Amino acid sequence: MKAARLHEYNKPLRIEDVDYPRLEGRFDVIVRIAGAGVCHTDLHLVQGMWHELLQPKLPYTLGHENVGYIEEVAEGVEGLEKGDPVILHPAVTDGTCLACRAGEDMHCENLEFPGLNIDGGFAEFMRTSHRSVIKLPKDISREKLVEMAPLADAGITAYRAVKKAARTLYPGAYVAIVGVGGLGHIAVQLLKVMTPATVIALDVKEEKLKLAERLGADHVVDARRDPVKQVMELTRGRGVNVAMDFVGSQATVDYTPYLLGRMGRLIIVGYGGELRFPTIRVISSEVSFEGSLVGNYVELHELVTLALQGKVRVEVDIHKLDEINDVLERLEKGEVLGRAVLIP
Ligand SMILES: [Zn+2]
Repeated sequence: MKAARLHEYNKPLRIEDVDYPRLEGRFDVIVRIAGAGVCHTDLHLVQGMWHELLQPKLPYTLGHENVGYIEEVAEGVEGLEKGDPVILHPAVTDGTCLACRAGEDMHCENLEFPGLNIDGGFAEFMRTSHRSVIKLPKDISREKLVEMAPLADAGITAYRAVKKAARTLYPGAYVAIVGVGGLGHIAVQLLKVMTPATVIALDVKEEKLKLAERLGADHVVDARRDPVKQVMELTRGRGVNVAMDFVGSQATVDYTPYLLGRMGRLIIVGYGGELRFPTIRVISSEVSFEGSLVGNYVELHELVTLALQGKVRVEVDIHKLDEINDVLERLEKGEVLGRAVLIP
């Protein structure tokens, strides 16, 4: 079968013929991939940014945002049949550690992450575990299924962060979204569905600000021109109750803490930069900083429900698997509107 694999850091992925994955554990599942989203993390993986933390064995297949159809299941799996349309929670977890029992899949003590440290979905078939599978309605069209791929990582990550944000987003509150990319454009919609807050979207690209407006943002701010001043004007000098940094680069974390008002919270979702902020301001205005990592199985289930109800949609940019290296290049330049999805 065909797969896009990382052989060497900072080199294009190689499209090659590899073996069909084998069922190994009692609860393994093989999925025929219908669509696999392309994430900034794929760029970071190619750059080797995750090497120290994950120690993946090269070469391997990237792709951690997957939908498809059940192809084969191991002997211990019940309730899944060949042909069932499914979306995959990105992590493979043991189900028995304390984090799993608390429902926090991302903190599983024996976590595997197809596409990050084992073979993922930039391929015709992928192996995962029955615990990671969410069944979708039998009659879902292939087109709709492919459109849902980005929910498996971009969407679930935006959803968890918005749920955290919602705790302090009461009527009259303000929320700033920094970065209207794959995650940010979903977060704008979720904030409108799940909170009464006024949504301010920031980006450096005109077309992404237009997308935010179309998706319901109350205000948009061109972050190339003094974003802190503009946000302070929009909030009449109060600052926002929650800022969500979906970029997390040095360019954004240098200003996102300054968007916060008193008791404001900065939720960091994107990564790559380093946070520096005077501690005297942390205590005097009681601001706080929180990270948000992907999301748990239940959160993906909730998000899928919203998507099936038509309350959130993903802007997708569909490509063939062979086009992966061009897609990664466009993603790096910020030229992808919404989320790119590969079809093997
Ligand atoms: Zn676990």
